[in-house]
Amino acid sequence: MPVLILKLVLILFLGFIGLTLIRAYFYQPKKIQMEKLPDENVDADRVAENLTRAIQIKTISYPNDDDVDWAEFEKFHDFLDEAYPLVKEHLTREKVDKASLLYRWEGEDSSLDALGLLSHIDVVPVSEGTEDDWTHPAFEGHNDGEFIWGRGALDMKNHLVCVMEAIEALLAEGFKPKRDIYLCFGHNEEVVGADRAGAKSIMETLRDRGVRLECVLDEGGAILPVEVKGVIDKKLAGIGIAEKGYADFKISINEKGGHSSQPPNHTGLGKLAKVIQRLENNQFKATLPKFVTDLFDRIGRNVSYPVRIVTCNLWMMRPLIKAIMKRIPPAASLIRTTTAVTMAQGSPAANVLPQNANVTVNFRHMPGSTLKDVERHIRKVAKNKNIELELLQGKDPSKFSPTDSRGFKAIEKLCIQADPDNIVAPFLVMGGTDAYFYEPICDNIYRFAPFTVNTQLLLCTHATDERIPVKVLADGVTFFKRFTREMAGK
Ligand SMILES: [Zn+2]
Repeated sequence: MPVLILKLVLILFLGFIGLTLIRAYFYQPKKIQMEKLPDENVDADRVAENLTRAIQIKTISYPNDDDVDWAEFEKFHDFLDEAYPLVKEHLTREKVDKASLLYRWEGEDSSLDALGLLSHIDVVPVSEGTEDDWTHPAFEGHNDGEFIWGRGALDMKNHLVCVMEAIEALLAEGFKPKRDIYLCFGHNEEVVGADRAGAKSIMETLRDRGVRLECVLDEGGAILPVEVKGVIDKKLAGIGIAEKGYADFKISINEKGGHSSQPPNHTGLGKLAKVIQRLENNQFKATLPKFVTDLFDRIGRNVSYPVRIVTCNLWMMRPLIKAIMKRIPPAASLIRTTTAVTMAQGSPAANVLPQNANVTVNFRHMPGSTLKDVERHIRKVAKNKNIELELLQGKDPSKFSPTDSRGFKAIEKLCIQADPDNIVAPFLVMGGTDAYFYEPICDNIYRFAPFTVNTQLLLCTHATDERIPVKVLADGVTFFKRFTREMAGK
């Protein structure tokens, strides 16, 4: 009898191996039916020149409105009028709030849900003392033939200029949209926790007029080369379908204080050390959201054959994947709310016991959870009734946008049409974007910039030597032309 069972197990095992080998062979990218598109007319030199000009205008935003040089924003508005005469002639434009812009291109049927193309006009300042570290001055927009250098080259005057170029070109070609198109350019996206976000004012303006947007496209994702020798050599076009929440919690303990020569065993700060340890040792629960399995599936289908024997069975390895991801901080941030203890404060002097000790903890919570959930978690794991909690700053995460909408499918199709080596996959954006504010008037919000940029260049965003390869600009204009035609042409 045992021999029979052994034989049965062996047959089942061999059967499984055989099936896996066959499954792995057929485990390939899903085919999308698409026609070959004609090349787009793009004046690459003009795009580059206009990006240089855009960078030269110092539209820097600061938390305090009084620090902002509003004349630069006026200059930027004038530059758009002058550089894009057809847009000026055929679209209406209004200034919203301090310096945001809302353009409307009226379509044949304004009762249809409209298309929203978003961007922000502002840039972050150059950190004091680092001005001379730049290879080319941050506001010169220097074009050396390979790169255009300067603040905003990637975040996100490149995007804004390419949207404008695309609309100007479509007007020149006589394109007539079926539905309305809105260009929504905020003026203070870079100011975290601004009293008034220009983007929010734009959304409210639209909402008050009864406008619904079918789809919103904003910054947040890019096209990244993915190369592992012998395994994969493709590009990953990440479409941000949601963004995480943000919360700074101050956790305090009040004590009597006094002289440090007669201290208790644990001061307030000492007790907080325990709270910190508990918070770090009891991380939020990780889950594998659908977009993560979707992401792995799409990448898994694109690796070479022997490796596909493993990737085609990812469904079996979910617990293992989760365990590995939890150990790699960038991967962990995709599957759970993160906890980062960033600041601590005790007494004002070395020989004084703290009367108030506090630590600040930054959380980025997952879509589907709330600020209240974060607070509950802190209280639960801290196991200290004497702590006081204060939410210094926070906002809840966005909703997830669907991956089967017309908007998502259009981005996917256009990316693969542009380059069959592009793997298009949904992902979660860690930072905040203006798109967040549009939820009340739009269900299909995507964060994606159609520029192929490697990780090294992406790291220059908000840092020294921000720059963009000149050759990717034409691809950007092509994408926005096609996307606009696809979404607003029917
Ligand atoms: Zn940005």
